[in-house]
Amino acid sequence: DSAALETLLTEIVDRMSQAADKGAVADYIPELAAIDPAQFAISICLPDGRQISVGDVQADFSIQSISKVFTLAIALGRYGDTYWTRVGREPSTSVFNSVQELESRNGIPANPFVNSGAIATTDALLVGATPKETLGEILQFIRLAASDDDIYINPSIAESEKRTGHRNWSLAHFLKSCDNLRHECELTLGTYFHHCAISMNCAQLARTGRFLAGLHPAGTLILPAHVRSINALMMTCGHYNGSGEFAYRVGFPAKSGVSGGILAVIPKRASIAVWSPGLDRYGNSLLGTAALEEVSRRAGLSVFSVE
Ligand code: GLU
Repeated sequence: DSAALETLLTEIVDRMSQAADKGAVADYIPELAAIDPAQFAISICLPDGRQISVGDVQADFSIQSISKVFTLAIALGRYGDTYWTRVGREPSTSVFNSVQELESRNGIPANPFVNSGAIATTDALLVGATPKETLGEILQFIRLAASDDDIYINPSIAESEKRTGHRNWSLAHFLKSCDNLRHECELTLGTYFHHCAISMNCAQLARTGRFLAGLHPAGTLILPAHVRSINALMMTCGHYNGSGEFAYRVGFPAKSGVSGGILAVIPKRASIAVWSPGLDRYGNSLLGTAALEEVSRRAGLSVFSVE
């Protein structure tokens, strides 16, 4: 019941706030390096419409790679299966911004959630639309998913990344050299950095995942077949080259971002968001993962469980 769940979440938040090792904030994006790592929030949306949120739930953070879930949803809606001619659907064994992996795959990114895959997706969304229109479409989708219009792009985070994101510039140029980028690098990357900088709080983020759990009050926002595809990708690739470890420890589809957010989907049962800015060596939230592991175990939420 929800009282027991709230007690469990409060207990977990208390424990996490006392953890000695909180991980390290991403420092390759200057605006993220300045964030206080001693913040923690968790929020869960349940099938009966209730939402339980504990910790720093009022604090906004940029969702970073979690935005790739929404750009993938829009791209699948627009292109269907032809989307997969540009991006693969295999887990990666390299870091999330590896140029070497992209080169070894001849310019076809491993999956939609590594940076090169997400850049190709953004590029596909820009066909026939300006960056402003594309960002408007992405924001509109997210606001609908969250049932909340109070969600915006943080322009200083986008600018900070545009100035310093040299890895992403090299990935975009590499995609272009392999004829897997339709627009100029500057146009596609400008749009990519801005959707990574979409900001919201943990409670809003938890609500965005309801459409993937079959729990959105408006019913299905996208085709059920696309929900299945996205959840499969989140399970196998949502934590980059740490996805196997995440599936082993936690056991449900989820997507992380370098700001320390994680959006998790347990089909028909819950949508959960967690936020703790310190990261592990794969670039995934250290305490966020630990908290989800505990919620999964204690509430019996692993999709692999037979209990
Ligand atoms: N904007 C970040 C980047 O491109 C997103 C990466 C992430 O969240 O993992 O590096």
